Order: sequence, then C-alpha cells, then structure tokens
Amino acid sequence: MKFPNEDVRYEQLFRVTSKFHSTMNIDAVLEEVINTLQDVYPSFTYTLFLAHDNKRHNVIPIKDIQEYEHGENSLVMQAFVTGKLQLEDSVSDKKSIIYAPLKGRQGVYGVLQINAHYSLVFPQSEIQFIELLANTAGHAFENAQLYQQSKQLIADLQLINETSHKLNSNLRLVDTMTFMSSQIKKSFGANEVGFFLQSNEQIEVLPGSTTFFEEGNGEQYVLYSLKRILAEKEPLFIGDLQVDPSFRKSSFRSMMSVPMVQQNEILGVAIVLHESPYFFSFDKFKLLQSLIHHSSLAFTNSILREELEKLVITDYLTKLYSRNHLEDCIQESLETDAFGTFILIDIDDFKGINDTYGHQVGDEAIVQIANLIKENIRDHDIGARWGGEELAIYLPRVDLASGIAVAQRLGKRVEAYSNPKITISCGVATWFKEYKETFQSLFHRADNALYIAKQSGKNQVIASESKVIEGHS
Ligand code: GH3
Ligand code: MG
Ligand code: MG
Repeated sequence: MKFPNEDVRYEQLFRVTSKFHSTMNIDAVLEEVINTLQDVYPSFTYTLFLAHDNKRHNVIPIKDIQEYEHGENSLVMQAFVTGKLQLEDSVSDKKSIIYAPLKGRQGVYGVLQINAHYSLVFPQSEIQFIELLANTAGHAFENAQLYQQSKQLIADLQLINETSHKLNSNLRLVDTMTFMSSQIKKSFGANEVGFFLQSNEQIEVLPGSTTFFEEGNGEQYVLYSLKRILAEKEPLFIGDLQVDPSFRKSSFRSMMSVPMVQQNEILGVAIVLHESPYFFSFDKFKLLQSLIHHSSLAFTNSILREELEKLVITDYLTKLYSRNHLEDCIQESLETDAFGTFILIDIDDFKGINDTYGHQVGDEAIVQIANLIKENIRDHDIGARWGGEELAIYLPRVDLASGIAVAQRLGKRVEAYSNPKITISCGVATWFKEYKETFQSLFHRADNALYIAKQSGKNQVIASESKVIEGHS
C-alpha cells in the first residue's frame, strides 16, 4: 500500500479543521473525520466507541464504551483512560488495529478504532495523522458539550428570571399556579405537573395542576410523596418508580417531588412526572427545588390574600362589595322580599388586555368598570366584585325588564368610557317568591345566560329563560 505525500495530508487535515470551526454539530465533524479516513484508507473498517450514548449516527457503527470495560477489547478502555493511542500490530497474527482516543482539553470523549485487518504495519507519519484527526473530533465533542451546557445555563437563568418577575406581579393564585405549571412543563419536558396543599389530613389539588391530577388519578403519587417527604424532610428524586413494588404498574417512571415550605412548615408538595425512567437530570432536580423554594412565598401570600378577601365585605381593589357580602344580601332578600334581579358581568377578552397592557392596566380597567357600576345603581342596590374580572349587581325588588335596562345601560357606558376600550357581557336572572328560588339556582341561571352572551358574540345582555335580547343598542 502506498501512502500519500505530506501536501495531500495537509489538505485533508485542513478540510476537517475548517468543518470543525464552522459548526457546533458533532455529527458533521465526525462525518468529515470518517469520510477523510475512508478516502485515505478505503479498505479499513472503522468503529467508534463513545462515552455517552450517541445512537444517532449511521455513517459508522457506534458502540457504548461502558460495555468494553472488561474483556478482550481492553485496549479500547486503555486508550480511553490514558488518552494515549494504542496499537495492536502483530505481523505473526496478521493483525493491525489502531485505537485513537478522541481527546479534548478537558477529557477523552471516546475512542476511534481503525482496523487495517492484516495489511501492514503503520508508518509513524500515518499514526500521527490519525491522531490529529481523532483529536479534532475530541475537540469538536468538547466544544459542542460546552456550548450545550452554556445554552442550558442561560435557559435556566431566563426561566428563574421570568418566574420571579411574574411572581412579584401580584397575580391571583390561579394565575400564579397556571404560570408555574406551564413553565415547568415547558422547560423540564415533563408529562404531568401538580401542586398540592395539605391541611387537616385533607389534600387540595391546586389550580394549574395538569388534568391528570385534577381528575384524581394522581392520588397514589401525592400520598406517597407526602408520606416520604414528611418523614424524611427531603425532596424526592426518583429515577425509576417501578423499582418500588407499589408502583410496579405505574405508567410514570421518573418522579421529582419537592416540598412547598413556609416558615419551616411543610404546606404541600409539587410533583413532576415523566413516563420514561431516568428522564430528569440532577441539574433539573436542583432547578426545580430552587423554583419551588422561590415561589412558595408567593403561593402562600396569594392563598392568604384570597382567604382574607372572603372575610371582608369590601373588595380591596374596586371598593365594591365582596362576593361573600353580596351572597349574604341576596340570601336575606330571598327571605324578605317578593322578587329581585341578579346581574352577572364578565369582561370580554380580558386576557388580551392583560397581555397587551400588563396586569396593572388590567386592574385599572376593572376599577373603571366598578366606578361605572357605582354611578349606575341606587343606594340600596349592591355592586360587587364576584372574583377576578367578574363583577355582579343585585337589585332587590327590581323586575327583569328593569334589570335588563340597567345592564344594557352599563354595557353602553363601559364601551363608551373605558380606556383602553373594553366591553362586557352580562347574564341577568330574576326571581319571584312563587318560584321558591334558591341562591344557587338564581346564580346558575345568570351564569348560563352569561355563557350564552359570550357564545353569541359578547358585548351583550342575555336574560335567563327569555329570548335573546339585542346588544346594548
Ligand atoms: P372572555 O371574553 O371569554 O371572558 O375572555 P377572557 O379573556 O376575559 O377570559 P376569562 O374571563 O376566562 O379570563 C379572565 C382573565 O382575566 C384571566 C386572568 O388572567 C385575568 N384576571 C382575572 N382576575 C384579574 C385581576 O384581578 N386583575 C387582572 N389584571 N387580571 C385578572
Ligand atoms: Mg372570566
Ligand atoms: Mg372575561
């Protein structure tokens, strides 16, 4: 066999190196290395041993180096551990194999085996060439790995940054949790995410949990996590749930469970699941711990605020009455009056307002509507914040036609005076003593009417059990 001269070698090396400098793609570099070798020595066979399972390449066979820890192929291991090229050159056995480590600055990433079968003994210059090629591949591995790591770090920082920003913006519990849940699903690649509070032996599934948990299928995971966390006072990082006999049939294999702690007290747990075993890395586990740690305070603040809201009769934002107080008043009216009208109001496309202008402006918009309500009702009528961006009016001793008129007038004014411009939809329901109506059924009728108003195009008033009433005009 004839070996090419030095100029050709330089040219070949140059080709591989330029590829290496122009891409972060390991496959492309490996391919170039192998193509070059195949060009030079077409009759040889090549096998690549890699330290991490890289089953994506089909140019040449790739094997996992771990499988060669013992046994005949110990030269692979030797090249890998020492970072030095190994030769198996034996004229008598007619055997000629090179093991070239893929070496970077910080370590060895694999070994390239070149089998020349029984052709010859390699000259030293050829060995040097092969070594250079293998090192180029090693550096490519290293670069790609560092690049991946730094990309991951940036993504993690962005996630933490975005999350703490959102948590500081005083969201309602539903919004906080829904946001957290979607962040975790997105950046952890999780199948299921759930948040659970535990108090008085009762477990509450918090909003934002995926439907798997909302529908009650996740109980086994929650009970198991809480039991262990309460006993061990440590978060759980489980690579394969099926190892535990009680989870032998579990459709999820990987689980991370992190306690939600407030002032040294475990309030609940956040659970993240994936169907494949060993799916989450330890870095992700640490990231989850840090996310939950930072958000626990925001969770409990939202919970406390919402509990407090139930206790007071005035809503803190709008200064309208609270929902609880409105319910009490309706209850009382149902007992003492002959009839009355209930109007349920929901702002149209309010998510869009928040998304476009931010939550602060969203809150101000709710206040604007609240003020229009106050200006549009009489002293003994009751305007209330039903919750979030839903408002309500109760008009004691007012019949349906007058109730509809009040709602329509309000709708027109909201459209005319709000800034940014918003519209509302209203559902109206009236009760009469003869019908023996309960508060629940009155609310349901108004809620259904509101639903129809939304379905039929929004910005309109619909009365319960009556024909569609045209828009506000
Ligand atoms: P639709 O016309 O169907 O009502 O659409 P919508 O976008 O208004 O949807 P929906 O009523 O379901 O959603 C209400 C949104 O309002 C969700 C939540 O982010 C936001 N929201 C709820 N309460 C508040 C609040 O107190 N302040 C602010 N700024 N936004 C709120
Ligand atoms: Mg709503
Ligand atoms: Mg709405």
